[in-house]
Amino acid sequence: MRQIAVLGATGSIGRSTLDVIARHPDRYQATVLAANRSVDDMEILCRQHMPPYAIMGQPDAAEALRERLSDTARITVLSGSEPLDDLVAAPAIHSVVAGIVGFAGLRSALSAARAGKHILLANKEALVSAGGLFMETVRSGGATLLPVDSEHNAMHQCLPIMNDGRPDMTHVEKIVLTASGGPFRGRSREALDAVTPEEACAHPNWSMGQKISVDSATLANKGLELAEACWLFDRYPDQIEIVVHPQSIVHSMIRYRDGSVLAQLGQPDMRTPIAYCLGWPERVDAGVAPLDIVATGKLEFEAPDLTAFPCLALAQWAITQPGGMCVFSAANEVAVAAFLAGDIRFTDIDRIIASVLHTVNLMEPDTLAAVQLLDANAREEAGKQILMMASPTSIF
Ligand code: NAD
Ligand code: MG
Repeated sequence: MRQIAVLGATGSIGRSTLDVIARHPDRYQATVLAANRSVDDMEILCRQHMPPYAIMGQPDAAEALRERLSDTARITVLSGSEPLDDLVAAPAIHSVVAGIVGFAGLRSALSAARAGKHILLANKEALVSAGGLFMETVRSGGATLLPVDSEHNAMHQCLPIMNDGRPDMTHVEKIVLTASGGPFRGRSREALDAVTPEEACAHPNWSMGQKISVDSATLANKGLELAEACWLFDRYPDQIEIVVHPQSIVHSMIRYRDGSVLAQLGQPDMRTPIAYCLGWPERVDAGVAPLDIVATGKLEFEAPDLTAFPCLALAQWAITQPGGMCVFSAANEVAVAAFLAGDIRFTDIDRIIASVLHTVNLMEPDTLAAVQLLDANAREEAGKQILMMASPTSIF
């Protein structure tokens, strides 16, 4: 029986993971459920899955959950980052699903890496902000890194895996990273000025959390995924080709030296990559309907539009700068939250990222403290930019 810690349990990735786990009560047990503040959702999940431990980011949320679950002595409710670090690193835990959204997911992912766990990595922001540190911790901790993100999961599936569990890149010419293009594909930049958070979150193919949905709409997500692929598969950015594929059926491809191109296909349902990682190296049922190739019809591919969606171009620049992607990701996180709150326009997101990238002192962060400082500087600068955009006269 593999004991699993599901971090970000109330989110889109967390729920898909719990759905797969529940299909295999003989193989997996959800031993730890972690979330931030959503007590109602967490109570329901706890009653369904009866994890020995539930942990909330916010102490008041933990208190409320403890009260709600007072009729059962079988679930211990905790709160805070240190107890989460300890739970993730506990000897009984086999796999950790890193499904917390944003930079907040870094600390627990590092704890899993240090403890040598199977890390089922959905949280890309942690890897993008602290790539060097994170990959080194995975190596020194003897952890196994399995990418949940559908594109990187597809790449993993199309690569031979060496005895030490790492992908073998020896004969690879290039990686082809696919993008759906998001809900605004084909629109001009001018037409994007007035789009609403609701429209931005309505992804044509995937059902996801709000932050990644907006990232998909701006193409910032593809910028984050470019950096993610570089770290996971030890590539330079120019060894990765980005192609828009609106149907989201081909999840990415590997070009080999002999001209062969291997692709992984599947329904746009995160339960497939999650099941691949949970079961790895075996395959387990994910509860996903079979892909009907004939009904799928045409598979199209086109180049990304960097003029309408400058976030991707900004990421392509930032990735060449020391600490650039840490700053990109932090500025993006703050800007997306402001857009979702109705404080800025959709097209302000890339303006804020560009301005923060040019203002913050860029440097390679090689310790956790340095990563946290660079992230905090970028957030502070992004906050200032948002204030100026929200009330342009306030600077005078
Ligand atoms: P979501 O918004 O649906 O869920 C986020 C989860 O994180 C929630 O459970 C929330 O409680 C938890 N959380 C947030 N801050 C926390 C904190 N400080 N402490 C503890 N828990 C905290 O997000 P999602 O769509 O599930 O995405 C999660 C991560 O997976 C993101 O990094 C995203 O980029 C990545 N990802 C998601 C998908 C997808 O299909 N949803 C696909 C690929 C990658
Ligand atoms: Mg993805």
